[in-house]
Amino acid sequence: MRIAHIDGRLAIKGEQGYYDVAEASGGRFGPDPQTAFDDWRAFSTWGRQFSASSSPVAPLQMGRGAHTGWGPAVPRPAQIFAVGLNYRDHIAESQLNVPDEPAVFTKFRTSLTGHESGVTLPEGLVDWEAELVAVIGRHCHRANRDTAWSYVAGLTIGQDLSERRLQLTGPAPQFSLGKSYPGFAPLGPEIVSTDEFTDPDDLELGCKLEGGEILQKSRTSEMVFDIPDLITRLSAVCPLLPGDLIFTGTPAGVGGARTPQKFLAPGDVLITWIEGIGTLRTPLLAP
Ligand code: ZN
Repeated sequence: MRIAHIDGRLAIKGEQGYYDVAEASGGRFGPDPQTAFDDWRAFSTWGRQFSASSSPVAPLQMGRGAHTGWGPAVPRPAQIFAVGLNYRDHIAESQLNVPDEPAVFTKFRTSLTGHESGVTLPEGLVDWEAELVAVIGRHCHRANRDTAWSYVAGLTIGQDLSERRLQLTGPAPQFSLGKSYPGFAPLGPEIVSTDEFTDPDDLELGCKLEGGEILQKSRTSEMVFDIPDLITRLSAVCPLLPGDLIFTGTPAGVGGARTPQKFLAPGDVLITWIEGIGTLRTPLLAP
């Protein structure tokens, strides 16, 4: 099952495109994309059935003037966790050692944006970080590794855009602030439910500039702390709530670790992909 946030409303992929969930479910589920996670079990049962059958209602009109925009696949998560230094090749290019514990920070909620949404570049050095993002589907406290995946509703694509000067300024690094300018968390376009993956722990991911070279390309099986491990460690401290996001870290190839360094510029279009999920397109705009 694939869901998305289109024109401010929850949409589901079906036989002939995207459908409005409130309309297609006869009002059983509301139009707010955040509410899909309130009762994920009921929603996903209905959604799987809907996706596999012919719809009684018409699909959404996309790209003919009727469609105004994509929103972040999860618009108002209560918590956004993010993990630094979680791919061995990225740790090596950062000239650091493999950590014993994940380096956890947050991206503030106001940084979320959708597919095809332009992101205005602030002053400074803005870098890319392609990331697999896990969406939590039910309350999760003190999970263990064996059951950890059962708390995940689905997976989506994220960019952990990072302004490197602010991120690394101050007596302790300011990861949360330097990665939270408006639009610094593009998310989507679709959330793909976990049952759609043969092996959700081994997906190719990467990013490139439109018309340009590939910047990052790796597999999620290269993570130091995989999704079950992250859920176990995070939920040992913080209860994870339905709709929460976990940005799971980025592989090698970030601009700040290159010689010479390379950063995003106005006019660039950042293309991020993950196997089995899709492609997230992010145009970068002048300040
Ligand atoms: Zn990151």
